[in-house]
Amino acid sequence: HADAAMYQAKGAGRSRTHFFSQELLASIEARYRLVGQLRAALQEGAFTLHYQPKVNAATHELTGVEALLRWTLPDGRSVSPAEFIPVAEESGLIIPLGQWVLSEACAQARAWQLSLNRPVPVAVNISGLQFTQPEFVQQVRGALEAAQLSPHLLELEITESMLVPQPQQASERLRQLRELGVRLSIDDFGTGFSSLSYLKLFPVDMLKIDRAFVRDVTTDRSDVAIVEAVIGIGQALNIQVLAEGIETQQQVQTLLDLGCPDMQGYHFARPMPADQIQAWITRWSGPDAGQG
Ligand code: C2E
Ligand code: MG
Ligand code: MG
Ligand code: MG
Repeated sequence: HADAAMYQAKGAGRSRTHFFSQELLASIEARYRLVGQLRAALQEGAFTLHYQPKVNAATHELTGVEALLRWTLPDGRSVSPAEFIPVAEESGLIIPLGQWVLSEACAQARAWQLSLNRPVPVAVNISGLQFTQPEFVQQVRGALEAAQLSPHLLELEITESMLVPQPQQASERLRQLRELGVRLSIDDFGTGFSSLSYLKLFPVDMLKIDRAFVRDVTTDRSDVAIVEAVIGIGQALNIQVLAEGIETQQQVQTLLDLGCPDMQGYHFARPMPADQIQAWITRWSGPDAGQG
């Protein structure tokens, strides 16, 4: 509480302590305000989803899209999920927010399937708190049913850090989701310090190589070695591998040479509103396919 914190800071008698307490208080207040703003934003429909294409750079196929959350402020500015997802997690607001993302993404995927007359698989990022909710599997099933979307057109992106603390429980959860028919991928793969032996325990369909290993892959031998190793694991365990954060044609070529045609990144497309995806697909798979 504000008064108590101020009192304690003064009671400590040192200006240093006082200073830090003030700062802490300010950050707590800022967080508290942000939680309120997030809650209001959810009610007012200020969240939207943008979608970033995932492609096979060898065949020039669109293999799916990833849904990425956007929060638009009343003044039109957009706040990055990197800023508000951690706060949404701490406050528990990620549960209704994540639920909204799931429903919205499934509905959009179904709408594309009908309007484009082709399946457009959609990937949804799942937070740790969401993943461990007892109701999570039921919520995923509910979102699929409400949208009348076939489960194999939904992919859930989880991270290593969600699997490490309680591997047995996580493994069971993944098995339940698999049973439902959805696809599972490990996002930011290689950054989570998980043991590779875990992959035996976790039934996943795809590893997304983090863009940290892609950035310098055209020049850095150790990045090449890491990417090669992940591709090797993928082949051995029959898990698809995708490279994230592709920004240049040289990176495309290097990854093709290394045997990793599945890619995603600004070189192909930035995340964009749903209504722009159709035009992008038409351009991408049209006569000029491959021009990025
Ligand atoms: P992520 O799932 O690893 O998503 C990839 C991030 O990299 C996205 O940032 C995307 O816009 C960005 N990106 C894509 N291609 C490139 C590229 O070529 N170069 C660079 N520099 N960046 C690229 P974004 O949209 O700001 O999202 C950040 C993170 O926030 C996501 O990382 C994900 O962890 C989280 N996030 C986004 N939407 C959701 C959501 O609906 N639920 C949850 N729980 N987390 C989300
Ligand atoms: Mg992701
Ligand atoms: Mg990622
Ligand atoms: Mg991430």
